Amino acid sequence: MRIEITAEQRALESRARDLAQGEIKARAAEVDRTESYPWDNVERLKQAGFIGMTIPKDLGGQGLGWMDAVLVIEQMAQVCAVTARIVVETNMGAISAVMAYGSQAQKRMAADMVLAGDKPAICITEPDAGSDAGGMTTRADRRGNRFVMNGRKHWITGGGVSRLHLIFAKVYDQDGQFEGVGGFLAIRDETQGLRIVHREPTMGLRGIPEAEIAFEEMDLPPEALVLPPRGLKKGFADLMDAYNSQRVGAATVALGIMEGAYETALAWSGEREQFGRPINEFQGLQWKLADMSIRIAASQALVYKAAASGADGFPDKLMAAQAKILTSESAIAVVNDALQVFGARGYSRNLPLERMARDVRMFTIGGGTAEVLRNVVASAILDKKLPQTRDGYVKAAAE
Ligand SMILES: Cc1cc2nc3c(=O)[nH]c(=O)nc-3n(C[C@H](O)[C@H](O)[C@H](O)COP(=O)(O)OP(=O)(O)OC[C@H]3O[C@@H](n4cnc5c(N)ncnc54)[C@H](O)[C@@H]3O)c2cc1C
Repeated sequence: MRIEITAEQRALESRARDLAQGEIKARAAEVDRTESYPWDNVERLKQAGFIGMTIPKDLGGQGLGWMDAVLVIEQMAQVCAVTARIVVETNMGAISAVMAYGSQAQKRMAADMVLAGDKPAICITEPDAGSDAGGMTTRADRRGNRFVMNGRKHWITGGGVSRLHLIFAKVYDQDGQFEGVGGFLAIRDETQGLRIVHREPTMGLRGIPEAEIAFEEMDLPPEALVLPPRGLKKGFADLMDAYNSQRVGAATVALGIMEGAYETALAWSGEREQFGRPINEFQGLQWKLADMSIRIAASQALVYKAAASGADGFPDKLMAAQAKILTSESAIAVVNDALQVFGARGYSRNLPLERMARDVRMFTIGGGTAEVLRNVVASAILDKKLPQTRDGYVKAAAE
């Protein structure tokens, strides 16, 4: 696959870089320290046209592609991972699922909310159903032509700041028969029965709340249903197709964080002198810097390839998983090495390295763990169900 970055895309990247290196960078430490959602940055991103840029033009967006979003996210993540995640979630994930599967009215509503600055939340994970999302117990029961939802989701990014929620639940008919997993839209402060239970005290990425959310006799009209139930798997398959865009977005945030850390360490290694010469004269550090640059180059190539694979739809599942595994694991290593290059200074909260080390730790967990994504990769390359998945396990037990 040939990956071309056009002149327009380079210009977009350059605009993103200017914004990132200016006002976004200046705010990053404070966003982390105060653990407050950066509404001012949302406004800056809106003004720059980076919010909802993948939304089709007829709905008020710019109809740009995954690669365009990736180039912007990469620049933001070099200085502020929280702001980069806002770009991810206003262009990929939940909003892309609504754009792909929603009715015209649902698309219009979601597009208007996102373009006004709302970062939609996607609600899948539950206290007893994490990697095994199919084990979810949140349910939507049909009552006439409406639905009543009950259940709990946790670790929902944006819980408490997001208004639009895309919620996945098991759907049951009037007789209590299971129909499949469906996806529903609800709006915080408008849909009765949606309650933010508590915010998680997170290690990093502290400017975006992660929250537990309860749905208590939540009454939903028929037009709330975006992804109709089609058995346990098919509703999920549609969701996971859309989720591949989010995975590429998450991989890009990890990529940007490591690039930011590397650039900082590279510059410092030329400034700092010990034993009468710059520390980058020592082979021990030269090889560290070389390894960092290799990890970045490989990760960037895979992220761009995964983004390009979605030129006519959603990114390829295998490439998105490969990109997220490589990038998230490389980023932890690179940030750790960058911190090491600074010696004691790297351990200080005066520099961004310790924040980056906390922020970057999430990307092997959220949006599919590195282990579970390895299952995705193995299943694709071996072309078979694996015993460590629900499908493979049930099949083995039945045989
Ligand atoms: C910062 C952050 C933001 C998040 N945002 C969202 C969000 O917006 N919406 C949402 O729905 N969820 C969100 N999540 C939840 C995330 O998707 C889950 O944490 C993830 O899917 C793993 O589930 P779990 O935490 O329950 O871990 P578990 O599933 O309990 O896994 C525990 C360990 O077992 C391993 N494991 C489990 N099954 C297997 C297997 N079959 N093979 C090998 N290893 C296995 C895992 O890799 C992991 O190491 C977020 C999480 C974080 C940390």
